[in-house]
Amino acid sequence: MNQSPSETCRVAVLSGPSGSGKTTIVERLLGQSAVSIEMAVSATTRPARVGEVHGKHYYFLSSDDFDKQRQAGEFAECAEVHRSGYWYGTLKSEVERIQSSGRWVLLEIDVEGALNVMQMYPDALSFFLKTPSVNEYENRLRSRGTETEEVIQRRLRTAEEELKSASSYRYRIINDDLDRAVQEICDILEEREKEIHAR
Ligand code: 5GP
Repeated sequence: MNQSPSETCRVAVLSGPSGSGKTTIVERLLGQSAVSIEMAVSATTRPARVGEVHGKHYYFLSSDDFDKQRQAGEFAECAEVHRSGYWYGTLKSEVERIQSSGRWVLLEIDVEGALNVMQMYPDALSFFLKTPSVNEYENRLRSRGTETEEVIQRRLRTAEEELKSASSYRYRIINDDLDRAVQEICDILEEREKEIHAR
């Protein structure tokens, strides 16, 4: 896919197993990053959880609508995540909307989607979040108390598979200390922003 440098820069992709602290890191990044950054709202076929708002947390689509948009090539990437039967995807229009405002686009997506995004946007900065141990993943997942045992087991299996993909990311961030992990990502973004300005 041919993209000009201005279109390919300022994309940051963040992945990590369930329980790796992605949501908290994202909230902190959006609040404290020195570079201007906005989260791309993904589309999904999964039903909204209590408190989730259409257009803010996700664009909640019917399977039919998702499929139509997929066939029409409207997704930058999409995948059936965690073998859940639900589809998730990043709409090209969402990425373009944020890019055209000169801000960084933050994508919080699964490994399969992230690998596709890295191909489509070769300049993207990719971050894989890790917690110190597999036990820690499990503890965090259970302490959320929002998933059934079956879902927990499935997510743990996915986590093990996803960990194997960590080496495909440009940066691996260990989330043993939240402040440090967030700062590390902020520093990398800021450094890249300086490079873009120096071009
Ligand atoms: P949840 O259902 O808990 O909100 O999200 C489940 C998983 O879907 C998370 O691991 C998240 O990274 C992934 N996900 C969310 N949005 C997207 C997306 O647009 N594309 C892909 N490939 N994965 C996504």
